[in-house]
Amino acid sequence: MTKDHLSQAKILIVDDEPSNVRLLERILEISGCTSVHGITDSRQAVTEYFDFAPDIVLLDLNMPHFDGFAVMQQLKAAVSADDYLPILVLTADITADTRRRALANGAKDFVTKPLDHTEVILRIRNLLETRFLHLAMQRQNAMLEDQVRERTARLEAALEEIRSAPEQNIKQERLRALGMMAGGVAHDFNNALTMMLGYGELLQPWLDQHGSPREQTYLSHIIAAAQDATHVVSRLRDFYRPAENNEIRVPVDLGEIATQVVSLTAPRWKGRSQAEGIHIDVITDLTATALVSANAAELREVLTNLIFNAVDAMPCGGLVTVATAERDNGVLLSVTDTGTGMTESERARCLEPFFTTKGEGGTGLGLAVVYGIIQRHGGTIEIASEKGVGTTFTIHLPSTDEQKIIHTVPVQRLDCALRILVVDDQDIICELLTELLTGDGHTVHSAADGPAALGIFRREPFDLVITDQSMPHMNGLQLGHAIKELSPETPVVLLTGFGDEMLALGACPPGIDLILGKPVSQSDLRRAVAQAIAPPLALASVA
Ligand code: ADP
Ligand code: MG
Repeated sequence: MTKDHLSQAKILIVDDEPSNVRLLERILEISGCTSVHGITDSRQAVTEYFDFAPDIVLLDLNMPHFDGFAVMQQLKAAVSADDYLPILVLTADITADTRRRALANGAKDFVTKPLDHTEVILRIRNLLETRFLHLAMQRQNAMLEDQVRERTARLEAALEEIRSAPEQNIKQERLRALGMMAGGVAHDFNNALTMMLGYGELLQPWLDQHGSPREQTYLSHIIAAAQDATHVVSRLRDFYRPAENNEIRVPVDLGEIATQVVSLTAPRWKGRSQAEGIHIDVITDLTATALVSANAAELREVLTNLIFNAVDAMPCGGLVTVATAERDNGVLLSVTDTGTGMTESERARCLEPFFTTKGEGGTGLGLAVVYGIIQRHGGTIEIASEKGVGTTFTIHLPSTDEQKIIHTVPVQRLDCALRILVVDDQDIICELLTELLTGDGHTVHSAADGPAALGIFRREPFDLVITDQSMPHMNGLQLGHAIKELSPETPVVLLTGFGDEMLALGACPPGIDLILGKPVSQSDLRRAVAQAIAPPLALASVA
């Protein structure tokens, strides 16, 4: 290892006597040194230190111009405090005083002239060993410092994440739990409502003919109440749920949504203005023409919530501005009010479920619904608010290149009789659909699950398959897929508790030609059947 040091080291000799320099060079060469540089003019010592970057300096003391002590002082000034540059003094004068002075000036060791070869090499080796150890330590330190720096940066980033994470996680978790609950409730209610609406509608023509006026009124109340309940359930469904892969989206014009919602919500702000003698104006500034891929009903819900909140925030009247604009490959939808505004902590918490400042009058769910819907649409929400000045909610949704689909579908019964396979794990829904469809002159077979349906489908031909989505063994999407494999031409209508009227207009997942939301009314069903079997033909035949 020491031999190695000698062969690696760069050695600078400073001695005014050329024969001494040559002798030393020779000794070192024999001992395996490969990089030795000797100078006889001590004035060049510092320059050589910088140019040659020696690992050790062998220094004579008695020299013209600068003696060894002066050279040591210059080197001391030149060498950085962190570096260890050993200086081996070569001298004929080795008095105690000389030694003290040399050590005080930075000398690390001495050899006396005339030189003993072995001693010179041993002392050089020792000094080099220290030098290389020092270098190794320096490298190690530098590495450690880098590591510490890197880890500190990582720690700081993690700390920052932790600081902001709990709120985020709690928010997400609460939304998720509530969403799952709401989703389950909505699904079950939709099935119950399908029954109420369906049998109600079946009963209606019979009661119209045979029932008393009172019975007819009761039934129409039942149907109206079921229809209202449908809307309540659709609000529940809109509450946060994770985006599903098969979520149906269509190109939607936010300007159109804004116009619709401003008009739909008018009773709330206009009516209130008149009743309470305050003045609320809602104006629109709709400049975006780009479309967004969305569920229109959900976006209407979003905007309705934002407008209601704006109106609530203006107890003495004011102005609400609903605007759209195109920005960053997307569309901005903003609702600005001149209301009470929010404090910073209200602003930070307003999206949380159950956060409300309206006491009994509020549920604190409006903005949680808005947040869930916008998240599922891949959008963002920004809220700017100033106490006493007003609030702006700005939503950004990515735009789509797809074109708008326009459907006008008839609701009269079709002229042609079809063979239809109905699949639902709930007998009662199968029965209802069968009643509704046979009432229109179609021939209907039903199956309680996917495998049974496939069995029937293999045995006989069908013009149309109508299947529920959530079923044991095989869901509606999987069944649709399997049907298409057997017969790509046969249209498949998917019936889902999570659907709504927009779903029926959208692009469908593979294997499905049309989506029909529960609860299904007779006209929904007729519309779906007409649209699913060869759409242009169906439209023509019933126009
Ligand atoms: P709710 O309206 O039932 O209170 P939201 O989730 O819709 O529930 O709103 C939560 C809270 O956010 C409100 O109670 C209110 O404090 C605040 N907020 C929402 N919109 C506005 C607004 N435009 N101006 C002032 N405060 C608002
Ligand atoms: Mg609200």
